[in-house]
Amino acid sequence: MKSIESLSYDELLLTFKTILRSNNLKFTAQREAILRTLYDHPDHFTPENLYLLVKQKYPELNTGITTVYRTLNLLEENKLATSLSFGTQGKKFELSNKPHHDHMICEECGVIVEFEDPNIEDLQQKIAKKHNFKLTDHLMQLYGICEACQQKQ
Ligand SMILES: [Zn+2]
Ligand SMILES: [Zn+2]
Repeated sequence: MKSIESLSYDELLLTFKTILRSNNLKFTAQREAILRTLYDHPDHFTPENLYLLVKQKYPELNTGITTVYRTLNLLEENKLATSLSFGTQGKKFELSNKPHHDHMICEECGVIVEFEDPNIEDLQQKIAKKHNFKLTDHLMQLYGICEACQQKQ
């Protein structure tokens, strides 16, 4: 899998257009607005949250929630976005162009904390080596209760 971490917005857009074409989908201003919003906000979005932000930023486009759902799934299928599950509340998406990081996810409120630890990264390499396993990628998701939610309990 080719890393997309270093893609500029224009390169990302080009890849997106290719994906749309190979899925017989039209490149539209609405779909671009979704990609652009994800790119401008390196955050984790539920489809609903992203929909609201796209509407707020590009009110003239009248982007529908169905388009947001479809576009997110398309981006994920083609590795341009990754999703994190948080319990019964659903999924949060982010573009895959961010530098590598891992996640802690609050089971109460769904808040996501990003972290990166060189020791953990190192240890994974060591374990993989021990098993003659060539690592290509990993996804670490730790579940728990965030600080704010602990204080409410
Ligand atoms: Zn919480
Ligand atoms: Zn993240």
